[in-house]
Amino acid sequence: MISLTHLPSAGCLADFSTLDPPPAFDALAFQSCKEQTRTRLLQNQSRQCAFCETPLEDHGDATQLDHLEPQGNNGGNPARRFDVTNLVACCQTTDTCGHARGQKEIPPEIHPYDAINLHRAFHCSSDGMLSNESLSQEAFGFAEGTLNLNSAGLKTQRSTIITKLQQYTVAAGTNARRRITQLSTEKTGFISLHFQTLGRFGFPEP
Ligand SMILES: [Zn+2]
Repeated sequence: MISLTHLPSAGCLADFSTLDPPPAFDALAFQSCKEQTRTRLLQNQSRQCAFCETPLEDHGDATQLDHLEPQGNNGGNPARRFDVTNLVACCQTTDTCGHARGQKEIPPEIHPYDAINLHRAFHCSSDGMLSNESLSQEAFGFAEGTLNLNSAGLKTQRSTIITKLQQYTVAAGTNARRRITQLSTEKTGFISLHFQTLGRFGFPEP
């Protein structure tokens, strides 16, 4: 998981939030405002899912706009329904992340906008399994049991990326850190985009 900074609230969403009665969030469907919001969120998130860090595409089939405070279609606080600070972009899979969470609230400890250094809260082993570095059992249990961040598919994807990084580390030799930092800024796949030190993945310092 990654920690995110808030976007300014201003934008086309504000027009929807002032309508009386407040419309369902589905009122955004097929509106340019939905595309603009998705693009803003993706830029803020380095085009990664806010929960599992899978790379996301900027179109509706690939990316879900997820309310951090659950809103359903008509429920929740109308003032937060069209508030960009209550939204993240996440992947569209049915068994992980936003869809898997449904209407369950996210523990503050792993809230993408409230928690700091979320990427340090987990350790990722070479087989792609996330384990708990610094979270309460409740928060880690939510990540693993509700967001399904250790699903078989995600573990395979992480393991593939880590194998590539290890190969790259060996090939790059003493310049590994600099070169992998360059690599991580390209679209090479999730988790590699945001790591700050090789130690996060158990690599020795180059
Ligand atoms: Zn995801």
